[in-house]
Amino acid sequence: MRPKDEWVVVKDIFEPIVDLELWERVQEVNGKRRRMCKAKREPIIFSGIAYCPDCGRRISFFPEKTSESNPKKTYFGSCQNYKANGPDGCMPHRIKKQDLYDIVLKDIREWAAMALADGQAVLGRVMEQQRLNSTVDYGLAEGKKRTIGKRLEEISHKQAV
Ligand SMILES: [Zn+2]
Repeated sequence: MRPKDEWVVVKDIFEPIVDLELWERVQEVNGKRRRMCKAKREPIIFSGIAYCPDCGRRISFFPEKTSESNPKKTYFGSCQNYKANGPDGCMPHRIKKQDLYDIVLKDIREWAAMALADGQAVLGRVMEQQRLNSTVDYGLAEGKKRTIGKRLEEISHKQAV
């Protein structure tokens, strides 16, 4: 697609669904909102790739003030399901972004050191990890089953009342 400034916009050929003034206003608000979000929140390295071990929903990260005296906010991640539904949904699984970062970095360093020392051993560990992951996936399915079961119970309860 051509860049926006090369577009030829032909106005007023069709009857507009939204009038031009409203359309421009919406674009203006959309643009502002996007910029505001970008400015307000720092990008989180784990966004979209960290998942709850119990229910499989995403872990979302939010800035929180850790103390009254320190104005700098720290990012904490927690289960989206818990955020939305409270204890009925899941457990908080709250973790400081920096702690998660340290854990992942430590893991990467261990794997790198191991690969340098003994490639064959790394291959063995990778295969073992894959086996464990399939167990984790099973755990995820179980977690989801529990959540759905709870929800069904709630619904049948409401219908009974
Ligand atoms: Zn969860």
